[in-house]
Amino acid sequence: MKAAVWEEKSHGKRVGFVPTMGFLHEGHLSLVRACVQKTGCSVVSIFVNPTQFGPQEDFKDYPRDVDRDISLIKAEGVDYAFIPDAEEMYPVGFSTYAEVHELQDRLCGRSRTGHFRGVCTVVLKLFHIVEPDIAFFGQKDAQQAIILKKMIRDLDLGVKIEVLPIIREEDGLALSSRNLYLDKEQRKSALCLFQSLREAEQMVKSGEKNAKIIVQRMREIIQSGPQTRIDYVEIVDMDDLLPVETIDGEKDALIAMAVFIGPVRLIDNTIVRRKE
Ligand code: AMP
Repeated sequence: MKAAVWEEKSHGKRVGFVPTMGFLHEGHLSLVRACVQKTGCSVVSIFVNPTQFGPQEDFKDYPRDVDRDISLIKAEGVDYAFIPDAEEMYPVGFSTYAEVHELQDRLCGRSRTGHFRGVCTVVLKLFHIVEPDIAFFGQKDAQQAIILKKMIRDLDLGVKIEVLPIIREEDGLALSSRNLYLDKEQRKSALCLFQSLREAEQMVKSGEKNAKIIVQRMREIIQSGPQTRIDYVEIVDMDDLLPVETIDGEKDALIAMAVFIGPVRLIDNTIVRRKE
């Protein structure tokens, strides 16, 4: 991979990179298309990263279909697929990790201990292997994008990050490889994430500034559906990911949530700004 990228760079190509865990859907493909369009050499990695899964999480069962993924990205005109083995990425004796303190413990980090350490470590390794000029991430994983930007700044990595909008099903459910796990009733119930976000946006638009009141209304909407269990619903500052009391128009705020639908943990978010 390194040799291929050096060769491309020696011809003056700008390298674009889309890291994924595979089982690609339109959300991933929106990043892939931007990458192909904006760079001279596009690289997509497919790697289900063991270090970002907790011991009770779905690493073993995470959906995989590499052949289908390869044909999808080929059809988009991607130049390279990078598909390493776990043993290659984490050889016996591997013991070096990247952590972004504080940010990694907030929102999803509270219930997924070690998750962002795994994400940062694998992305740092992938950046060193692929040496991209620009990397593409989805707003779907808002906390991930914020943490990675911080890591890039703190470690002077010199990679530009572009964060692209959440791609949704027609009814609003954010695309996710984990949607596959939902049965019919759960799929219906999963709409409550999107509905609560829309309600929050509407409340902000109509002048509600109090974050507690908005979060309370969102929780009611989510809890009214069958098989739902809230992990968190928070309105936070986009820089430090700490809860804000008011949405005041000075700064964007991130409304983020993780909700279990049956056994399936889904995340979603939106960015709001109260325009005066
Ligand atoms: P994953 O394979 O889940 O690690 O995701 C790889 C990249 O795709 C990440 O940057 C995600 O944020 C992005 N992504 C996943 N789902 C969506 C979506 N529905 N819309 C936009 N980007 C997404």
